[in-house]
Amino acid sequence: MTLIAKDMVVQFNYTLTNDAGEQLDKSEAGAPLAYLHGHANIIPGLEKELEGKSAGESLKVTVEPAEAYGEYNEQMVQEVPREMFQGVDSIEAGMQFQAQGDAGQMQIVTVKAVEDDKVFVDANHPLAGQTLTFDVEIVEVRAATEDELSHGHAHGVGGHHH
Ligand code: ZN
Repeated sequence: MTLIAKDMVVQFNYTLTNDAGEQLDKSEAGAPLAYLHGHANIIPGLEKELEGKSAGESLKVTVEPAEAYGEYNEQMVQEVPREMFQGVDSIEAGMQFQAQGDAGQMQIVTVKAVEDDKVFVDANHPLAGQTLTFDVEIVEVRAATEDELSHGHAHGVGGHHH
């Protein structure tokens, strides 16, 4: 039996629910997600609980925000002028845009509110501040290939295709 450890590729099915019990995400039937264990491909709280498990096992993992997508940070809500959104006819709360962060990284921001010529955008991860529960079913555990290790992610079913 192969146990989940660093440099193993793990395929799993999952259902993700929030504190209120609402389903947020789910892997497609017959299309598990694959990740490379020990390379921060998935959130730390889930990776930690999968360590040492094997194919065929099911587990339910509840992860606090700090071990998931981080605490919600009010400082990450910013006011930007309407003219920053050239070419966008109407801006409404809930819309998402790609923006460049302070460190030059690309990030997704969500429009929180629009007031006259001011737009309030939120750069928090959409799941920041949420306690998440994953129902996980481990489908396969195998050693990573050299390519996967050098890329830092899983290839093949449920992994990266490139
Ligand atoms: Zn790759």
